[in-house]
Amino acid sequence: MSIFRVLTSALSYYSNHGYTDQTTLNQYTNSLKAAIVYYLMRPKAKNPRDLLQSSFDRFLKKSTLRKKEINNIYTDLSRELHKRQAATDELIKYRKEESILQVLRRFVGWATSIPKGGIKDIDKVKEKDAIRKEIFELPLVESRIINDQTRKMESNLNELIAIDNGAIAAKWHSQWRTPDYNYREPHKSIDVDADIFVIRNSWAHKDGLIKEINGYTDDRELPGQLPNCKCVYHYLYKLTDLPKEMLTKKGLSLTK
Ligand SMILES: [Zn+2]
Repeated sequence: MSIFRVLTSALSYYSNHGYTDQTTLNQYTNSLKAAIVYYLMRPKAKNPRDLLQSSFDRFLKKSTLRKKEINNIYTDLSRELHKRQAATDELIKYRKEESILQVLRRFVGWATSIPKGGIKDIDKVKEKDAIRKEIFELPLVESRIINDQTRKMESNLNELIAIDNGAIAAKWHSQWRTPDYNYREPHKSIDVDADIFVIRNSWAHKDGLIKEINGYTDDRELPGQLPNCKCVYHYLYKLTDLPKEMLTKKGLSLTK
């Protein structure tokens, strides 16, 4: 039976009879739970793992790296993909469990609030719509998790590639100007202040050519790591890309 039919029959039972006994309630919650699980587990055209894999392939395709350069760090890059696939599976699994509990809790709360004998003017439609909405939103939750994990994966891939290419520092870009983007205030201010973070143990850092004034990239999370963060790093590769205050005497002498 479809989830909405199960829901309709449960709602009309309680509207007509009210909370009669625990056994009946258990029967309704069990069939509701089974129907939601069935609804959530139905096969989809593309599973989350495949979607991340496609984003990974697209990312490498549009990357400016040559094939040989990609091959050198391919193990690290694909490790990142596998990590993100595992994280996505976990998050979706927990989020689904949470949603099922939420729907059941809502149903039980509503059903047990109706006195025996039921009530006539009960707002059945409203309750059904509220529960239905929660169920319909589940696929959106899933795609939100996938998008978020994709951004995190790309941020980490960018970092691996940048470091492999000899990046020495990074500048945070927040996208706070994007309309309707719910940006984080601290991320906006890093962007507005144009803070530049040193990549620890990069060639320029090891050679004592640059110094941090705002800290290192590993002092903080990577952009795009926090939920719904759409920030990115612009990586810098040359001493002349940095403000003079970030160069040591030795570094300065090389730029003259
Ligand atoms: Zn951000």
